[in-house]
Amino acid sequence: IKPLKLSTNTYDDNALDHESEIHTQKENATLLMLVRNWEIAGALRSMRSLEDRFNQDYHYDWTFLNDVPFDNEFIEATTAMASGKTQYALIPPEDWDRPTWIDEKRFERGLQLLEDKGVLYGGSKSYRNMCRFNSGYFFRQKILDSYDYYFRVEPDVEYFCDFPYDPFKVMREKNKKYGFVISLHEYEDTIPTLWDAIEEYMEENKDDIDMENNSYKFVTDCSMIGKYGPIVNSNSDYNLCHFWSNFEVGDLNFFRGERYRRFFEYLDSKGGFYYERWGDAPVHSIGVSLLLNRDEIIHFDELGYTHVPFTTCPSAYYLKLQQRCQCNSDDESNIDISPNSCLMRWWKNGSGKFFLKI
Ligand code: GDP
Ligand code: MN
Repeated sequence: IKPLKLSTNTYDDNALDHESEIHTQKENATLLMLVRNWEIAGALRSMRSLEDRFNQDYHYDWTFLNDVPFDNEFIEATTAMASGKTQYALIPPEDWDRPTWIDEKRFERGLQLLEDKGVLYGGSKSYRNMCRFNSGYFFRQKILDSYDYYFRVEPDVEYFCDFPYDPFKVMREKNKKYGFVISLHEYEDTIPTLWDAIEEYMEENKDDIDMENNSYKFVTDCSMIGKYGPIVNSNSDYNLCHFWSNFEVGDLNFFRGERYRRFFEYLDSKGGFYYERWGDAPVHSIGVSLLLNRDEIIHFDELGYTHVPFTTCPSAYYLKLQQRCQCNSDDESNIDISPNSCLMRWWKNGSGKFFLKI
């Protein structure tokens, strides 16, 4: 075996080795974190990790969103941690608060029901605001108007490997509109009527959906069972697969566009963000699976990442050396090899490159 030249980056000529070129190569993009003041320690950990592994070579802007004003301590510390510009925005109450047309009694009943069932955040009101905001409002914030791409970051996450490319550049050059690293099954108790709403939406918006080229099968196919993949335990045609949205790189123009907006407004009108506990992850995932072409979605296979309780880690030995990965692909928390992962379904039904008509 020929020894690898670890000092040269074979993936992206513009990264790392050619520092002077980097600044002129930047995309129109921002790192984006919705976060609370008290999460400052976790926010800084995530920032430090992403700066080390990626942004110190690019200096992309950091944008912070909050439903209450950021305090000075948060602003000072995050600005000190960032290698790029930082900016902070207050979310207007009309983009965050529960709409007045939500039936109070039905809402309270739903909270109680999910709380009693022991569903994660089942009884939380603010979590529901957050999920609805991330589903339909983040991309409408004025502070994002001038950007084309965002990279969502959450507190207390870690990136395990040096990025071998600028994901924003990959998105633009390869015409990708949504990028993910982890895909898994959703808790059905949080979305009992989501798929009913999706079916109604599809019936009423046929012109918006290109069934020939989208990833509908990724979210509906249940054919890999037992030995060949995860066992699906769903009461509807939805197989519960979704992209884990705490990591996502997306095209803001897609989300701001009419078709996604129609999709979101339709779901929102059903009230399921409040009467149930619809998450932004299944909503984004079904949205991009229906509305994008398969080859507009990218799995960033080379990026190690963790957000409790799951991890993804590349398994290629030399790739891990080259990217200085600090993770173990055999680890128990590695979702990609667990029956709960939907990655195999993505390979089978989603990814444009390897799409098989079966
Ligand atoms: P989990 O990842 O599903 O366990 O939920 P998190 O608590 O991590 O929330 C998801 C994201 O939304 C994180 O970036 C949080 O910081 C943020 N978030 C959640 N609730 C609120 C809230 O009430 N206000 C603000 N400003 N951010 C929130
Ligand atoms: Mn989180």
